[in-house]
Amino acid sequence: MILILNENTDPASKSYRELMAHLSKLPNIESRVHNVQGAERMLTEIYLIGHTQALTVEDMRNLPCVERVVKVSEEYRILGRHKDENRPTGFDFNGVRFSQDTLHVFAGLCAVDNRENVETMMRALKANKQVCTRMGAYKPRTNPYSFQGHGKKCLPYVFELAGEYGIKVIAMEITHESHVGEITEALHETGNPTGVMLQIGTRNTQNFELLKSVGRQREYPVLIKRGFGITLDESLNAAEYLASEGNGRVIFGLRGMKTSHGDPHRNFVDFSHVPVIKRLTRMPVCIDPSHSVGSRALAPDGILDVFHVTAQGVAAGANMVLVDFHPAPAKALVDGPQALLLSELSHFLEDVAIAREAYVKRLALARQHRQSQQAA
Ligand code: PEP
Ligand code: MN
Repeated sequence: MILILNENTDPASKSYRELMAHLSKLPNIESRVHNVQGAERMLTEIYLIGHTQALTVEDMRNLPCVERVVKVSEEYRILGRHKDENRPTGFDFNGVRFSQDTLHVFAGLCAVDNRENVETMMRALKANKQVCTRMGAYKPRTNPYSFQGHGKKCLPYVFELAGEYGIKVIAMEITHESHVGEITEALHETGNPTGVMLQIGTRNTQNFELLKSVGRQREYPVLIKRGFGITLDESLNAAEYLASEGNGRVIFGLRGMKTSHGDPHRNFVDFSHVPVIKRLTRMPVCIDPSHSVGSRALAPDGILDVFHVTAQGVAAGANMVLVDFHPAPAKALVDGPQALLLSELSHFLEDVAIAREAYVKRLALARQHRQSQQAA
């Protein structure tokens, strides 16, 4: 059960203290307070966990400070979309709004290799009016002898350059909880020139201790990738781990499933699940066409498969596109074969805009048909 408190409820107020005192006396029920800072207001939600069957919505609604009560199902309690609820989706981070209604492209380097390539990438992003990017500093690699990423060494120049080129959010994978501290330290040392969205990669989707520690910090939002060999339900529960520890600013990433049935793509493209994630949860949905397709394969119509699957995901309502670019893919230290060229960036963005426009038109068409059916 979730109690949604009146806007801007003051935790020092008498009524709030009365509410908390009442909740603390409920037998076998634990309450967890989540503060959600919106653009203009602070929303406080109290999650009641445990033996909530004994509580009624009416009784809870009559408690001081309570505006609304949502009875949640067992599934994905915090991030899930429950019956008859219309709580907002999304959050603001460093001046950028992420929700199930917005769309942002995170084009960038799969792995940071050197300062020059980071700068070239960021210059291209700025020229194309982009404020988000991806930059891999910690790389989980199959082969222990492969390049593992420059780690904390590259963070200062990545952050400085981001600030210089107006980048507001960098998606950056972490593979260990200590990386969060390294990121915070480097941001601090460089004067907080940008924001970081922590990325949990597909190999760590069920690294529960990592999920718990990333869930406990509230500073950075998290992009969690779907596990490539587990069920969707298992991956959504992994996302819920983050929220259950306190961090509800979570984006869910589709990046293809590992199976030979997806051949010749690197992974079986799963962007048909964009609307499924939106129906089951309130998370914005990210698609990663690069790790899904894994190559620069070109269709006979002259369009790269990476472009095609991106358009499919965006036309279905995706909210974020994480995509690999590189100034010289042949020299990239990780995933060069799937990287797009900087000369393709404006083409890619225009193609995304066409697909987004198609989605917006599809929404309007669906609304129009619903209304005419209701009127009939
Ligand atoms: C990545 O985005 O760099 C990455 C490694 O992705 P995934 O975890 O989906 O393989
Ligand atoms: Mn990669």
